[in-house]
Amino acid sequence: MPEHDSLRRFIFEKLPVQGRHVHLDASWRAVLERQEYPTPVRALLGKAMVAMALLSATLKFDGAITLQIRSNGPVHLLVVQCSSRLSLRGLARWHGDLPDSGLQKLLGDGRLAITIEPTNGERYQGIVPLEGETFAACLESYFQRSEQLPTRLWLTADHECAAGMLLQVMPERERNPDAWQHVTVLADTISGKELKTLSAEQLLQRLYHEEDVRLFEAAPVAFRCQCSRERIEATLRSLGAEEMHSILCEHGKVHVDCEFCGRGYDFDAVDVQTLFIPDAQSVHSGARH
Ligand SMILES: [Zn+2]
Repeated sequence: MPEHDSLRRFIFEKLPVQGRHVHLDASWRAVLERQEYPTPVRALLGKAMVAMALLSATLKFDGAITLQIRSNGPVHLLVVQCSSRLSLRGLARWHGDLPDSGLQKLLGDGRLAITIEPTNGERYQGIVPLEGETFAACLESYFQRSEQLPTRLWLTADHECAAGMLLQVMPERERNPDAWQHVTVLADTISGKELKTLSAEQLLQRLYHEEDVRLFEAAPVAFRCQCSRERIEATLRSLGAEEMHSILCEHGKVHVDCEFCGRGYDFDAVDVQTLFIPDAQSVHSGARH
């Protein structure tokens, strides 16, 4: 049995390779409860959630990593975010008829952006065109272009769980292309079913029983949305007073549902008025004169 909603890191003791394994269960189903996705969109979103959980372990600080895909294909938007504390959220938007398979047909032409935002510090964004036969291959090409650190991913998702494994060259050890070839060729023999049903320990045993692999403690992964009234207010402010007042006139209030978690936020006329008061200082001086 796999460990539910967990991330486990592992390293090869004698090879310059590290890896991670992720199994999402309740955290993945929480996303599916909030929105019904057609099968190909669900598969793509599930894989993206797993990938971001796998990549979050590269965050060496407090913050978040966000994947965003915008394209001209049927799936025109996909956003997944994972924090350094392993809170995960994601959504996808699509329109029109969906092909059964084929990443190129689902996404068309577009861009994949990965943004790393430390809570304190500078934001970093890498953008690459969507290339590759599979979603994992798109991410691998991102790594090739941006980090130049050989990285491979194996991802799978269905309506119950999403799971995956990542292998990456360890930058601090001496490069060994033969070792990299050896571990990735073996990993290519894993099936989607094995990824879903085996624990990290069983998976490593199945693939690398001849290698000396150290598996670290599991870290819990959870679905959690970081939306807040303050963040929604900032978005409304950016739309402008005129737009807000016209919504107020038409509906009597401004209602916003968080796209990630479905939580609703209401703003009445007074709330909207408050949004556009420049700051307390100027109100005060304005009242005096
Ligand atoms: Zn939310």
